[in-house]
Amino acid sequence: MKTRTRHYFPLFIIVSCCVVTISCTSNTTKNQNEKSDSTMSDQFRNNLKEVKNLAKELKRKGISDERVLAAIGKVPRHLFVGEYLREYAYIDEPLSIEKGQTISQPYTVAFQTELLKLQPGEKVLEIGTGSGYQAAILCEMNVEVYSIERYYELHILAKKRLNKLGYYPKLFFGDGFEGLPEYAPFDKILVTAAPEEIPEKLLLQLRVGGWMVVPLGGRQIQKMTVIKRINEDKFNLSEYGDFIFVPMQTGTEE
Ligand code: SAH
Repeated sequence: MKTRTRHYFPLFIIVSCCVVTISCTSNTTKNQNEKSDSTMSDQFRNNLKEVKNLAKELKRKGISDERVLAAIGKVPRHLFVGEYLREYAYIDEPLSIEKGQTISQPYTVAFQTELLKLQPGEKVLEIGTGSGYQAAILCEMNVEVYSIERYYELHILAKKRLNKLGYYPKLFFGDGFEGLPEYAPFDKILVTAAPEEIPEKLLLQLRVGGWMVVPLGGRQIQKMTVIKRINEDKFNLSEYGDFIFVPMQTGTEE
């Protein structure tokens, strides 16, 4: 792991005028884990063994946070991909979803979630809702989840899937580069697509002491990076190995 500190002096001026705190309703957190048996499909029951085995495999591969493993062991990943891919859902591989995007490899989901070191009740912003799988994992961690997706179709599909399973994160259709200033500050921000540059507007939406987990380094391969907000204008960067993500793109699409 490499660590270095960066100062974002130009940001300091913006910070004092654009970070707005709006408290959120407590309903979200309460609802997130209300999952009755009736919402759990029979298909999930049939896949319980596979989902538990996936969690065991990730443990063997080095994921050590038991809460993350427990979350992986509960979310029916096969319900977040097209029917033709369901048989591959419990193999530790990324899979295609609509709009040419991917549902991340389970190991990557677990690795990023572990780096967040989530505490119950924290406010977390995810960039790149995609299939909704990572958002479901975050809901299982008992945090307040906000997630943005730039494709309208993916946003709607993820909402349907998540709600059907009894998860109610706050989902937004929009450009993740903008973040959600009206809901900031966030305790943690998780970026699940690869930006070419550090998304600075997002840094400003972190609370002091909070951090962002983001794959950085361009199109081909990225370094998993944790950027911690030390104070108003000081950020500390740590790197945690190579990963490959789909690009983070500006704007929105249907
Ligand atoms: N977390 C997702 C992974 C999806 S892949 C899951 O669990 O399935 C990354 C996603 O980021 C894609 O859906 C892509 O459309 C989305 N994305 C890329 N750039 C974005 C941006 N600027 N704002 C919001 N979403 C973005």
